[in-house]
Order: sequence, then C-alpha cells, then structure tokens
Amino acid sequence: MSVDEFRAGAREFLARNAPGPLAELEPAEQLRAAKRFQAAAYDAGLIGITWPTEYGGRGLSTAEQQAYNEEAVHYDLPSAPFMVGMGMCGPTLLDLGSHEQKTRYLPPLLRGDEIWCQLFSEPGAGSDVASLQTRAVRDDDSWVINGQKVWTSGAQFSDFGALLARTDPDVPKHRGITMFIVDMRSPGVTVRPLRDMTGRAPFNEVYFDDVRIPADAVIGEVGGGWLAALTMLGHERISIGGSVRRGSDPLAYDNLVELARRQNRADDPVVRDRLAEMYAHERALALFNTKLRQEAAAGSSPGARGSVAKLAGAELLWRAVDTAGLIAGSALTSWEDGDSAAEEMAIAINGTPAMSIAGGSNQVQRNIIGERILGLPKEPQVDRDVPFRELKVGTQRTP
Ligand SMILES: Cc1cc2nc3c(=O)[nH]c(=O)nc-3n(C[C@H](O)[C@H](O)[C@H](O)COP(=O)(O)OP(=O)(O)OC[C@H]3O[C@@H](n4cnc5c(N)ncnc54)[C@H](O)[C@@H]3O)c2cc1C
Repeated sequence: MSVDEFRAGAREFLARNAPGPLAELEPAEQLRAAKRFQAAAYDAGLIGITWPTEYGGRGLSTAEQQAYNEEAVHYDLPSAPFMVGMGMCGPTLLDLGSHEQKTRYLPPLLRGDEIWCQLFSEPGAGSDVASLQTRAVRDDDSWVINGQKVWTSGAQFSDFGALLARTDPDVPKHRGITMFIVDMRSPGVTVRPLRDMTGRAPFNEVYFDDVRIPADAVIGEVGGGWLAALTMLGHERISIGGSVRRGSDPLAYDNLVELARRQNRADDPVVRDRLAEMYAHERALALFNTKLRQEAAAGSSPGARGSVAKLAGAELLWRAVDTAGLIAGSALTSWEDGDSAAEEMAIAINGTPAMSIAGGSNQVQRNIIGERILGLPKEPQVDRDVPFRELKVGTQRTP
C-alpha cells in the first residue's frame, strides 16, 4: 500500500470514528470512550504504525506515521491516557525488555487495553531522581517493594507502572537502582489523587506497602535502573516536546488566531507580529521533532537533543500564554458565568507551568544541553562515588 493510500484510509477512519468532545462526560465515561477509540484505531492498523509487527505494531515507516499525524491533527483525539505507555514505557520496553515482556505487554499497551504509568519521582527525589528511596528487596522468587512515589500521572486508571526502586544501598546512588514492571492492582499499592491549580487531579501519590512482584519483572538488568531511567527520560522528552497543541486546545496557534478575530485584534500589527513569531516557532519545533522521531525510528538515539525539544515545547507554551494575554487582556481573568471557552482558556493557562516541570524542569534541561551539547563544565557532584547508605542529603533515611 502506498503512503497516499494509507493516508486516505486513515482520513476515512478518522472521519467515521473520531469521537466528539468528551470534556462534559464523567472521568470514567471519558476513559471508556478513549479506550473504545484507541482499540478501534489499533484494529484499523493506525496505532503502533512504526512498531515491530512481532510485538503488535504495523512495521511501517515514519512516512505512514507522519501521514497519520497530519490527518489526526484535525481532531481532538482522546490519546492522553495512553501517552505514558505509548511515548515512554512502551519504547523503553522495546529498547530494554526481554522478548517475553515485549510479547506480553506491548500489544495490549498499543491497543489501550492496558494503561501504563511512570513511577519515578518521590517527595525527596525529583530532578535528582537517583536519590530515590523506594526499596525493592529480593525474597525467593519475588521482589518486595516499600516506599512512596509522587506526581504519578494517570496512576488512578493505570494497569501497570514502570517503577524505579533501590535494590542496593551499598553502592553509589546511580548504581543501585533497578526498573520493574508493577501490576498496579497488586495488594499493598495505594493510589491517592493530587489536585493541581487547574482544579483537576491528573496525578497521584502512590504508596507501596510490602508489594510483591515476580522476580522476572525487572526491565533490563538488576542494578541497571539508571540506564533504563535515562532511556525512558529520553523517550519522554521527545514525547512531551513533540505534542503539538491542536484541536480544541485554546493555546493552539489556530485558536489564538480565532481569539484575535473574536476580540477584533486580528488587524493589530503587534498581535499579527506575535502570532507570526509563534507560528514560526511552532513549525520549527514540529519539524525538529519529526527529525528526532525519524532518527529514533531508524534506531539512533536523539540523546540530549530530546532536551532541546522538551525545553522548546515548554517555552512555546509560555509564548502562547503571552500572546493570549496580548490579545484578550483582562478577558482572560474574568468572564460571564457559563462562558465555557473562557473557562477552558483559564484551565489551559493555569496548566502551563506544569510543562516547565514535568519530564525534567527547564533548568534541568538547560543543564543537560549545557553539559552534553555545548560542552560546558559539569555541575559538581560531591555524592557521585559515595555509597547511597552514607548520603546525608534530601530526605535520606537509613534504608
Ligand atoms: C504535570 C506533571 C506530571 C508529572 N508526571 C509524573 C509522572 O507521571 N511520573 C513521575 O515519576 N513524575 C512525574 N512528575 C514529576 C516531575 O518529573 C518532577 O516534578 C520534576 O522532575 C521536578 O522534580 P521536583 O518536583 O521534585 O522539583 P525539584 O527537583 O525539587 O526542583 C525544584 C526547583 O529546583 C530546580 N533545580 C533542581 N535541581 C537543579 C539543578 N541541578 N540545577 C538547576 N536547577 C535545579 C528545579 O528546576 C526547580 O525549579 C510530573 C510533574 C508534573 C508537573
């Protein structure tokens, strides 16, 4: 099938099956609708387009993926619940998982039958995630997990999580970590919602109390969790940076143009200048992301350039907020009851700072770019060679 034929099939599928806006539905009903669409799109061969056929993908090229993306951009597809699985956990399993793990987990992950979350951050380990204290202790044919994670997006509806835990406190912090697959319904897992300043609760605290997982739930090597974490963070940065703002997102370029028209500001040269600047940045970032994805699909890691994509995506969002402010002024801060467009804009603006934190803060991305791309001197790391057990930093307790 040619790329054009593939595109025509995708266009027809989307026209028939893309759901309308789901925002008015209850969260559980939204999730059911999202799962229905994901399964239908998977069954139509439109999910996992470049993934290997052996693990449930289509084994096609980035040209088909690009064609699908260009068609899908016209719709508000409910893909958010699957982003951590498809953009982060799945690609990490592809890179580091065993054949059995890939066969078991990837097809249902792609089809949306099983949802994944990322269990990295802890109250005392965010930017410095290698300081994490959740422990995994080997007991016969199981690992026993104890500890707490925080800011876990989507844990409330996830089936599995990719968990980082400390398996050896006697070696320096980066060396004693292992990545595991955890069934989120295991006894001893408690998920509690956390509300952000949009009023929504997209993330959670997750507690592990004597949670038993099988010995073969390790992703990669025991003690190789730092490599696994870097692998996943690399995928995460492309995934977050690459999410073009679209559809009904009030901060998407097209919707800001529409806002300028509604506010009678579309002829204002300053507004036009700002919109043109935003368009140029959005296009440049989209092309840069396409290039990174093509490289990744061809087996070459984008390395620290993923941090450039992630940082540029976060900065573009701030640019969009500034532009919205220039266009609409005080209309962004007060509106008539029931003006749902204004409410959606307020939610989008209040959600903007999260993009500069999630997946590594802007400052951390700048450190990575400075050290690994620009060749600037590394930050001092006084704890690099000290056994984790002896560290007295953050919220460190004796493990
Ligand atoms: C919307 C959202 C979703 C998230 N989802 C998940 C998830 O699904 N799973 C998960 O594991 N985590 C998730 N996180 C957590 C996220 O990864 C962390 O918040 C992030 O890594 C920062 O860690 P922290 O919050 O502990 O801040 P800290 O690390 O305490 O940082 C505080 C401040 O210090 C700065 N800083 C820290 N270290 C340095 C340094 N070396 N140089 C310069 N400045 C520095 C930071 O930039 C920041 O401004 C999510 C966060 C958000 C906002």
